Amino acid sequence: MRGTYCEAEEAIGATARGAFLGLGSNQGDRAENLSAALRMIDAIEGVSVARISSVYETEPVGYADQPAFLNMVVRVRAGLSPEKLLDALKKIERDLGRTHGVRWGPRPIDLDILLIEGVRRDTSRLTIPHPRLTRRQFVLVPLAEIEPEVELPGGVSAGGLSAGVSEDVRLVGSLDELLAGANEDTRIDPEAN
Ligand code: AMP
Repeated sequence: MRGTYCEAEEAIGATARGAFLGLGSNQGDRAENLSAALRMIDAIEGVSVARISSVYETEPVGYADQPAFLNMVVRVRAGLSPEKLLDALKKIERDLGRTHGVRWGPRPIDLDILLIEGVRRDTSRLTIPHPRLTRRQFVLVPLAEIEPEVELPGGVSAGGLSAGVSEDVRLVGSLDELLAGANEDTRIDPEAN
């Protein structure tokens, strides 16, 4: 798969493409939000979830005065245009209770398109590969876990840029373990902040 994600764009036909999506939650029941989003992503027509990373707890970036996030990355097959995929992801964000307030502030769910095989976009609505992909360890660590060889902008691999788990990006475990309550309680009180 190395090399395919950042090459020049080919015509988008009916063929499904590999893509990576980033998920994050820092409001309400974070594990349940991730789980609901995963189910809803898999239910998008033309999209199927192929691989999911572990869940990582990460310190907020950009706007620090807010609860920690749970983050994960999923690989999907997507047989729809990048714009339609973005529309579907934004609908899921709304359906899971996201309202747009502070930029990079608390949210029940944040969904980002990180990479789509053979696709580049640079419009006011959509930038692919995601512009902050190579600078965000909360994305690089889970991405490197499921696809270390995947090539990122600049010709570097996810595994090469990932700093691994750290104080700021802590491995929590699998989403199933979290949902079964095998780990810490992941509920964040929305009033607490
Ligand atoms: P966010 O606050 O992270 O949900 O992102 C805000 C806006 O970023 C969205 O409304 C999108 O139009 C835009 N955007 C640009 N590129 C992307 C991308 N690769 N994935 C998701 N959103 C994107």
